[in-house]
Amino acid sequence: MTRLLLIGPPGAGKGTQAARLAENYSIPAISTGDIFRFNVKNETELGSKAKAYMDAGDNVPDSLTNALIRDRLAESDCDAGFLLDGYPRTTDQVRELDEFLAGHGTALDVVVELVADPDVVVERLRKRASEQGRSDDGESVVRHRLEVYRDQTEPLIDVYDGRGVLVKVDAIGEIDVVTERITAALAVRGIELAGHASH
Ligand code: AMP
Repeated sequence: MTRLLLIGPPGAGKGTQAARLAENYSIPAISTGDIFRFNVKNETELGSKAKAYMDAGDNVPDSLTNALIRDRLAESDCDAGFLLDGYPRTTDQVRELDEFLAGHGTALDVVVELVADPDVVVERLRKRASEQGRSDDGESVVRHRLEVYRDQTEPLIDVYDGRGVLVKVDAIGEIDVVTERITAALAVRGIELAGHASH
């Protein structure tokens, strides 16, 4: 059982690393951002409620997000563990996740903070905007998302550090190198790659 959370500012590479780690550790990567984007694209009711917040770079209200993640974590593919990307993002969401996991007799094993300088992430997001055309990657929205991260999400890092589950990983560098850093940090915490027996 491996329950992980990737936390870090927008543009730190959470989505990219989450996909790789999910494969390497044979656990599902769960990105609330991806779930919201899927719902917006498919014009679901949830998507129509979330869209304006996303386009403005604001957090979608906790009530919507918490319900969504509760349903997702209850699916059977999460029985072997999971990797959360982009949730929790507020102290309310931490409380909600804590309650959900405690109800199943579990907790997060490791929280990986991807550490990246704001100037670097702004530049990365500018590049992603031209490549992928994400509607929330415009310059002023990016700045606002960074502010929202600083105000609402960064405080979570101290919370998890206080619980002794936080590891910090430098997110600047080649994608492979960052994956290796995360893998090494997880190994120190006793979390081994799928197929490698732990000792
Ligand atoms: P992300 O892909 O993680 O950058 O998320 C994109 C957008 O989806 C965010 O700017 C929010 O509007 C929304 N979102 C994603 N995850 C959450 C969350 N845990 N709580 C609130 N809003 C979220």
